[in-house]
Amino acid sequence: VTDIGTPDRAIVTTCAYCGVGCTFRAEMRGEQLVRMVPWKEGKANRGHSCVKGRFAWGYANHRDRILNPMIRESVDQPWRAVSWDEAIAHTASEFRRIQAKYGTRSVGGITSSRCTNEETFLVQKLIRQGFGNNNVDTCARVCHSPTGYGLSTTFGTSAGTQDFDSVEHSDVIMVIGANPTDGHPVFASRMKQRLRQGARLIVVDPRRIDLVHSPHVDAAHHLPLKPGTNVAVLTAMAHVVVTEGLADEAFIRERCDWDEYSDWAAFVAQPERSPEATAALTGVPAADLRAAARLFATGGNGAIYYGLGVTEHSQGSSTVMAIANLAMATGNIGREGVGVNPLRGQNNVQGSCDMGSFPHEYSGYRHVSDPATRTLFETAWGVSLDPEPGLRIPNMLDAATDGTFKALFIQGEDILQSDPNTHHVAAGLAAMECVVVQDLFLNETANYAHIFLPGSTFLEKDGTFTNAERRIQLVRKVMDPLNGYADWEIVQLVAQALGLDWQYTHPSEIMDEIAALTPTFAKVSYLALEEHGSLQWPATDAAPLGTPTMHVDGFVRGKGKFVVADYVPTDERTGPRFPLLLTTGRILSQYNVGAQTRRTENVAWHAEDRLEIHPHDAENRGLRDGDWVSLRSRAGETTLRALITDRVAPGVVYTTFHHPDTQANVITTDYSDWATNCPEYKVTAVEVSPSNGP
Ligand code: SF4
Repeated sequence: VTDIGTPDRAIVTTCAYCGVGCTFRAEMRGEQLVRMVPWKEGKANRGHSCVKGRFAWGYANHRDRILNPMIRESVDQPWRAVSWDEAIAHTASEFRRIQAKYGTRSVGGITSSRCTNEETFLVQKLIRQGFGNNNVDTCARVCHSPTGYGLSTTFGTSAGTQDFDSVEHSDVIMVIGANPTDGHPVFASRMKQRLRQGARLIVVDPRRIDLVHSPHVDAAHHLPLKPGTNVAVLTAMAHVVVTEGLADEAFIRERCDWDEYSDWAAFVAQPERSPEATAALTGVPAADLRAAARLFATGGNGAIYYGLGVTEHSQGSSTVMAIANLAMATGNIGREGVGVNPLRGQNNVQGSCDMGSFPHEYSGYRHVSDPATRTLFETAWGVSLDPEPGLRIPNMLDAATDGTFKALFIQGEDILQSDPNTHHVAAGLAAMECVVVQDLFLNETANYAHIFLPGSTFLEKDGTFTNAERRIQLVRKVMDPLNGYADWEIVQLVAQALGLDWQYTHPSEIMDEIAALTPTFAKVSYLALEEHGSLQWPATDAAPLGTPTMHVDGFVRGKGKFVVADYVPTDERTGPRFPLLLTTGRILSQYNVGAQTRRTENVAWHAEDRLEIHPHDAENRGLRDGDWVSLRSRAGETTLRALITDRVAPGVVYTTFHHPDTQANVITTDYSDWATNCPEYKVTAVEVSPSNGP
């Protein structure tokens, strides 16, 4: 950590790593950032932080940053540094050339959950207004798109129901498919504080995460389910609630559709859905599951927090709806201490979804086929808009290999490293005539790019991020962009080169446009954010200071909707060739594919990804701790070192994916969520064998 002296001023800004949204005082000496100090007034963090936000900002000045635009005719040619004028003009002419030759829908773009709301809004506007189609998607496709589908269907809006303060009123906390101490450490501390005060904890996870046994905190129940059986476990819990008369019928009658509840209750009450009947399938002892269900239903305020272990499955959307069903059935919605809360991974994944990054929705989750919404945007933007939903990321890649999709604008995402089945992603990118990558570094995806537009870090721009509790917070510029432009300015330059009359002089003007076009953001402005520190959407005339708890008097959709979500086994099966199940996760000091944290001192805490394997499985394969192993699936093969531990159950192996050498996504398959195409990262049948190393 570089500390070059006493600071002479401080600028308050928001962390660019995870969805907790900690705020920091960026302490400056002259034009030099000296250190990041967690801000005591921060609503999300109250002066706390983790090792990522506090220490891992040095990547902003890392020698690997690309500061000049570059172009090349084909990907086997060397890059050629060009002026910004040439790069922008070339980008616009390539997209116009390709659309003229292959049609309006032959191009698209991907927004970033790492960039600001304003930048995300501009990318989807560029595609809708400038390219004339809805081929826009976001990296939420590969993480929380099932949250969007599941919570919109059951509750009426795609967001967590609570603020972080709510956990202080919880009596029972259920954590499913999340590892908050590594993934969301500052919120995990608040959760643990409540647990130390006496709240009870249920952990549903194939792996014995830290929360199960940590200092002064012991889970009341750990349900170590087999990967891929979330829906069966939640249905068995619902079976106990319904058949033992533990449902909150008064709440259900008042707040939900009773007929739909009755159908759902009859479904879950069937004997084949009992804990006893499903114990062999889920791997969870029936008595433990019954006890956990009883505790959740009768233990007072029950809150559910979940992560990518819920969404990144072929049944991701079904699992989100099963969680919503359980919360409604037990009356745990609409007040402090309860609720359904997705723990968002990236700093602005909530915001990227809110801003219209999905191919079927404008900002505020309004469908592109809705005439009234489309007219609103057509009037504001002065163009006719496409009423047909566009392509999702996997569909864009499929269309590219089929020859109908030819150009992609990617802002702040490394899809080659982060999306499933690397070979398929590479084939799609290789088939395109123009790939534009706007990023800080020459990432893996840039190997397939024709135009590279250097991006800017969060320290170099003004804007807003929206955290996991729907809290919109200001990001303030700490230093001038090293590349010359903030990301929003680059998108504007491309739009202007395409002939669009964009004249934004500051991101606050973009937010004013978002507020004018998005009812849930109606009262959001930079002035209001400066005055109140932050706002949780919906911020409307009825709630000008925002909404900490949602669905208080009624669900956004009116009546809460119970959805029968039946367990369907994934097509990814173990067998003699691939007898183990691989699941993946993160570690505290690193962030996602590691593009930033690996370029800071934090890399010293995690120099490599390892494969966790149970002692029995290791012994059967003649493995010792630290040995190199070959990890093979039906999709591919990679090599990494073994870590022998009983944190994973026999039959399950686990790895992080922070280092590119690990190539975890060479292993993962094409299976995805039935509703949203979110990849099934969490279940891959594999075999492990000794190896001599890479
Ligand atoms: Fe806070 Fe998350 Fe940043 Fe850590 S990574 S400082 S928990 S926002």
